[in-house]
Amino acid sequence: MPWCDSCDKYLAPSAAASDGSCPDCGSRLDAGDAVAQTEQPIPWHFWIVVVALVAYLGWRLVDGARWFLERT
Ligand SMILES: [Zn+2]
Repeated sequence: MPWCDSCDKYLAPSAAASDGSCPDCGSRLDAGDAVAQTEQPIPWHFWIVVVALVAYLGWRLVDGARWFLERT
């Protein structure tokens, strides 16, 4: 929710001016929650973890199936 430091109050997102400033005093608003909602790019090392996990689980599946077939 937008916060105005000068007026010391919260404003409804629709109450803020179109340029993101306070309609009462015209100062720049602190966007608050909106900052946390901005999308973060997925880090490259995340995909290494995903690939490693898929490879590991795939191997476990093959290994488990082989163990199961040898058992019967
Ligand atoms: Zn204000």
